[in-house]
Amino acid sequence: MGKRILVTGGAGFIGNHLCERLLAEGNDVICLDNFFTGRRSNIRRFEGHPHFEWIRHDVIEPIRLEVDQVYHLACPASPVHYQANPIWTIKTSVDGTMNMLGLAKRVKARLLLASTSEIYGDPLVHPQTEDYWGNVNPIGPRSCYDEGKRIAETLAFEYHRQHAVDVRVIRIFNTYGPNMLEHDGRVVSNFICQALRGNDLTIYGTGEQTRSFCFVSDLVEGMMRMMNNEAGFVGPVNLGNPGEFTMLELAEKVLAQTGSGSKIVYRELPENDPKRRKPDISLAIEKLGWEPRIPLDEGLAKTIAYFREEIAR
Ligand code: NAD
Ligand code: UDP
Repeated sequence: MGKRILVTGGAGFIGNHLCERLLAEGNDVICLDNFFTGRRSNIRRFEGHPHFEWIRHDVIEPIRLEVDQVYHLACPASPVHYQANPIWTIKTSVDGTMNMLGLAKRVKARLLLASTSEIYGDPLVHPQTEDYWGNVNPIGPRSCYDEGKRIAETLAFEYHRQHAVDVRVIRIFNTYGPNMLEHDGRVVSNFICQALRGNDLTIYGTGEQTRSFCFVSDLVEGMMRMMNNEAGFVGPVNLGNPGEFTMLELAEKVLAQTGSGSKIVYRELPENDPKRRKPDISLAIEKLGWEPRIPLDEGLAKTIAYFREEIAR
């Protein structure tokens, strides 16, 4: 028997891949989105599916729905977008998460919170383990997102302790793949589109900062394993690919794979940009039997193929 599942932020990059998997496994899926960074085109392929509905709604406002599970993803994820209206980003994380936890409490649904590696800030521990409390500037340009997600985690754990809400908390590390927005500002989509369009690849700072990139299908598998673990494992758990690359290495890979003649140019490093990031995924391996399968080269090839088609459209 399928479950009734609410996916907030379901029209976004990760959300649409998650909806696809949930539908394929026979669930009823309600995608809730205000379409800030999400797109109708991301969910168009499900329209007419007998087990799919979508609702235009902002999670800042309460809503009543009868569901068994909530994947709570609604929140802009790219610095360009979460910094566009920082107070609204904070409201999305705080009021939005409280509303969704309230809904889960009322209907006794299990809720998975999509938290982030950003809660570690510019980490002083490397690689990052879940017991590290982080190094976050509370008043910088990234704080609306970082601190918003930190309080969202606090809310999840307080609803769990105080009201016995069945929660799951995942900390997602940089994820990429088809259906990213071209103008989202994230490094993978920026470099690929710049290379395909013959524009300069913009490296911020020296390009020595590192990130660890997880292909979206790997992430979705981890999210579903976490949601459906019946051992009462609440998390938080890191979900990401531990392969660590500098932005210069990423740019070179994109240039090689696209065969582009674009040049690399250097731009100012944004304030508080984390220097290194790499997940320790021992806990996910132990508790969920999960680890990513798709290496960066393979994932990049799939993502480049997607953008090549989009740009030719
Ligand atoms: P995205 O911006 O593509 O998707 C977010 C979705 O939420 C969009 O469809 C957007 O329209 C919707 N949304 C935003 N605010 C909303 C609101 N107030 N009410 C209703 N809908 C709202 O981003 P994504 O990469 O798919 O990220 C999904 C989740 O995963 C986010 O919570 C993000 O913080 C988290 N995450 C993502 C990454 C990553 O690398 N992609 C890394 C860490 C955490
Ligand atoms: N970055 C870059 N060029 C770009 C976009 C981003 O060099 O065109 C850098 C950015 O400064 C950061 C890294 O790439 O060091 C990852 O940026 P992104 O916004 O994708 O994710 P986040 O910083 O949130 O991890």
